Amino acid sequence: MKLLNCRIESANNSESDFPLNNLPFGVFAKDKGTPRCCVAIGDFLLDLSVLFDAAVFPELPENVFAQSTLNAFMGMGNDKWSYVRKQLIELLRADSATDAKKVKAIENAQHLQSDATMHMPFTVGDYTDFYAGRQHATNVGTMFRGAENALPPNWLHIPIGYNGRASTVVISGTDVHRPLGQMKPPTAEIPYFGPCKRLDLELEMGAVVGVPNEMGKPVTVAEADDMIFGYVLLNDWSARDIQAWEYQPLGPFQAKVFATTISPWVVTKEALAGFRVSTPARDVELLPYLQEKEPLLYDIDLAVHLKPEGSAKPTTISNTNYRNMYYSAAQQLAHHAIGGCKMNTGDLLGSGTISGDSDKAYGSLLEISWGGKNPLTLDTGEARSFLEDGDTLTLTGAAIGDGFKIGFGECTGKILPAPDFNP
Ligand code: MN
Repeated sequence: MKLLNCRIESANNSESDFPLNNLPFGVFAKDKGTPRCCVAIGDFLLDLSVLFDAAVFPELPENVFAQSTLNAFMGMGNDKWSYVRKQLIELLRADSATDAKKVKAIENAQHLQSDATMHMPFTVGDYTDFYAGRQHATNVGTMFRGAENALPPNWLHIPIGYNGRASTVVISGTDVHRPLGQMKPPTAEIPYFGPCKRLDLELEMGAVVGVPNEMGKPVTVAEADDMIFGYVLLNDWSARDIQAWEYQPLGPFQAKVFATTISPWVVTKEALAGFRVSTPARDVELLPYLQEKEPLLYDIDLAVHLKPEGSAKPTTISNTNYRNMYYSAAQQLAHHAIGGCKMNTGDLLGSGTISGDSDKAYGSLLEISWGGKNPLTLDTGEARSFLEDGDTLTLTGAAIGDGFKIGFGECTGKILPAPDFNP
């Protein structure tokens, strides 16, 4: 697969996250204007409602893009998603015979990304987070329960997940307050209340559901893949000391609900099609409803960057890849719906923490510092076991093509002190 040459020059830079091959969808506003659906191209974004008015998408219904969320478009399914991508490529290719009226429409739709504010790209229906990284599950299990019981007996058979909170899924750039909660160190007799001391990130991908299924109607893995509109970077912020005390027997509760950050651009399944890879070899065969007939995971390079308050530049603390996951998002979605659960447009599925096979490739500070036993040294010389107030954490990711990349932009958040609260 080669770079598709674009009439917008900055999209042809091999370092750009947003070449013509990508065309991720988002929602933007300028000044105090109404948010509108857009695509990213090079240093710019294109207002899709302006392109619609210029008859670039004659097969779409009115007002699909003159909205502050992508949900209406996301609910339309593969044919319409593919149609819009085809029309945009035809419009923007350097060598296409785009007429003067359409060239004018591109100019009218075009805004520098640096001049725009990005909004949540879709209204989140329900948010579910999984635990599908084998290395991560092994590391955390070893720390919490010992090496003998690291992987729970169901782990190789079921994509384990929990139902999270859609209400606190936020767009990149949103500050995150250190949460308050109840904790009990192993050495203490009774729990105490206060600000979390072991605040962490989780590097994940988020799969975004486009097409719903009916309640009571399970879907196959292949049908589940068809339901997925695209992918975002996702940081599942986690309070490890709150989690350790509360998580048995029903899983995380307060430890995960204070914030989940996503990147502003939804990269479509079609843009990633050339980067499909198979899930790793199975130790035990999956039950038939979970087996995939073709590669459904993706080769996406991922990195984590940490910048302390006042520091000029961040330290990259991890480099890993989405292909490390044991279960694909399609398998997770098929499992989610198998018992009769209805999945809706805008539902968000966190992959689970994506950890590679060394402490340079782990997707959380819990693993990198091994529960605080081996603090990490940043480029500034400062030590970190967990996140401190003032730290800015950024996730980046891209599928690497031949002379181009399919990038995701940034998923970033700054840690603010715990709220002032005296019950
Ligand atoms: Mn998670």
